[in-house]
Amino acid sequence: MNSNEIEIHKELKKYFGFSQFKGLQEQVITSILDKKNTFVIMPTGGGKSLCYQLPALIQEGTAIVVSPLIALMKNQVDAIRSLSSENGIAHVLNSSLTKTEIAQVKKDISSGLTKLLYVAPESLTKEEYVAFLQSVPISFVAIDEAHCISEWGHDFRPEYRNLRSIIKQLGKVPIIGLTATATPKVQEDILKNLDMSDANTFKASFNRPNLYYEVRTKTKSIESDIIRFIKQHKGKSGIIYCLSRKKVESIAEVLQVNGISAVPYHAGLDAKTRAKHQDMFLMEDVDVVVATIAFGMGIDKPDVRFVIHHDIPKSLESYYQETGRAGRDGGEGHCLAYYSYKDVEKLEKFMSGKPVAEQEIGFALLQEVVAYAETSMSRRKFLLHYFGEEFDSETGEGADMDDNVRNPKNKIEAKDQVVK
Ligand code: ADP
Ligand code: MG
Repeated sequence: MNSNEIEIHKELKKYFGFSQFKGLQEQVITSILDKKNTFVIMPTGGGKSLCYQLPALIQEGTAIVVSPLIALMKNQVDAIRSLSSENGIAHVLNSSLTKTEIAQVKKDISSGLTKLLYVAPESLTKEEYVAFLQSVPISFVAIDEAHCISEWGHDFRPEYRNLRSIIKQLGKVPIIGLTATATPKVQEDILKNLDMSDANTFKASFNRPNLYYEVRTKTKSIESDIIRFIKQHKGKSGIIYCLSRKKVESIAEVLQVNGISAVPYHAGLDAKTRAKHQDMFLMEDVDVVVATIAFGMGIDKPDVRFVIHHDIPKSLESYYQETGRAGRDGGEGHCLAYYSYKDVEKLEKFMSGKPVAEQEIGFALLQEVVAYAETSMSRRKFLLHYFGEEFDSETGEGADMDDNVRNPKNKIEAKDQVVK
């Protein structure tokens, strides 16, 4: 180790209490400390926050962190403050602050106390803030959840499109983009929109070798099929995703009637009930949560043993994110999706009310899900290929962990018969 490496290891221990970097963190941090534009692609849970937090803490000036969700920003600010005796070390700048609070934030930045300033993209567009930020030293700008900049991402935020021009007004500051979305299209969009084709790019593998992927044809007996599956995983934690709130309610009820402890979760339930059901799942008072995609953001239950998709997801990214909640602890994680072409048509119908450009993207993403469901090749290889990653389906980690590999379909036989 050279002196620089020793130094950042020491700082890692000092601030975060960790004795080792995770994955590519050290390389990323070195790139940021070298003042290079840097692009970080790591799956959820990969440890992206530390990649910008550590260099921010040890450099001169204030790092601006753009993040799309106020709740996420608040969590991070609280976490950083708990590492220090100075409250002013991290701040959030948003529209809910009073004049006095804003004055305090500005004072802490000006005095050099504030190392991390979290801002929502819409706050950063405010002229008043831009003028102030031009007058103070900025170490770098980190753009978390950078896929929000792309229409091909699952969470497009038009405000993200303005970021580049605002950052330019701040002078020559390095930009760090971070995302868990690995599709080559989204990556291209990010680099283009942030005007950083020169960025040092760090991409971690998206392979989750302990997850088993399976697709079953959706038939009328899906409910008894799910019940049988859950009974085979007695006492284990699992999530069942459904497209509609109505389906969530009815499946939760069917499970309860069949002696399975399950609760529903969707945005139509009041906040208190939602919080209660989420806690019941986290505390293991129930085994199964039946949910719409409203469930899962920030859920960090390490021992979820299965994720069932009662209906197909709208994109493979969503599928990867949702199934990614299984087996966080490295143990078993069974990802079972039910597929019928009728569901595809239903989703297409949902989209038909949207603007044309959005529809086209929606259809294209959905076609990838169809291809995944219908493929007879290694599902892991298919998924990883979608994320621009080559996977060796013979020797790769987790290579035998899907239905197609374990029970190859007899497609060739059918073809042979036609030839004869
Ligand atoms: P991401 O943003 O990539 O989804 P986070 O930044 O939220 O991931 O980090 C996920 C978890 O990993 C956090 O609990 C964090 O404390 C932990 N973590 C990050 N870096 C390290 C490390 N070097 N050693 C141990 N744990 C780490
Ligand atoms: Mg993150």
